[in-house]
Amino acid sequence: TRRTLIAGNWKMNTRRQAATELARGVVDGLSESSQVEVVLCPPAVYLGAVAECVVGTPVGLGGQNLYAEADGAFTGEVNAGMLTDIGCGYVILGHSERRQLMGETDADVSKKLHAALAGNLVPIVCVGETQEQRENGETEQVVSDQLKGSLAGLDEARAAGIVIAYEPVWAIGTGLTASPEQAEAVHAFIRQLLSDDFGEDVAGQIRLQYGGSVKPGNAAELLSQKNIDGALVGGASLKAEDFLGIIAAG
Ligand code: 13P
Repeated sequence: TRRTLIAGNWKMNTRRQAATELARGVVDGLSESSQVEVVLCPPAVYLGAVAECVVGTPVGLGGQNLYAEADGAFTGEVNAGMLTDIGCGYVILGHSERRQLMGETDADVSKKLHAALAGNLVPIVCVGETQEQRENGETEQVVSDQLKGSLAGLDEARAAGIVIAYEPVWAIGTGLTASPEQAEAVHAFIRQLLSDDFGEDVAGQIRLQYGGSVKPGNAAELLSQKNIDGALVGGASLKAEDFLGIIAAG
């Protein structure tokens, strides 16, 4: 009974007008009978504008990152308190782009995870292997190390509320999607790791999203897999019609 969670990671895209039009398009196009939970993650500077579009609707709001400190002299950064204040319920953490381009480590992600939970944000913790790591047969080791490091210090009581996104790096923005079988195999592996750490009951409550070139045409097959409880969508979340098509498949 894990509720399907479809989140749109807009990354560093849109301008204010495009952001609000996209948000309104999603809100207006959402079927009233949809059981799917929907979250939009716009760039930080547009969170306020998008919040105005989604407030009072079933559509939720999330940040793409946070800085794991309380208010203070941290030029250019945004913390959990600011994200909740502007209306966020979620925050993406440890996205592969942040790991690769900004040098984020598992230890950084773990700090951010605790800051998110302390600030009442649901963390969406991203893990995933590169093409080279997959070819070398290292997928399980990489995902297991990332998960262990990123979730360090997390207790059972709080674990049930987090979200894990499995995003194979080779499938991000490439048009290459993991096959439903490939994705399900890693999701089942992640569920087992979570079960080893937090017990079967808690592991059974944690939602696992797949991310990497999810589109309206491949979403249904991915989302029908036993351990795939949602999607973290990049490119296809930038067009309301495509994003709504993915939601409809959930
Ligand atoms: P794409 O859907 O563009 O492949 O991006 C996936 C992603 O990185 C979502 O966080």
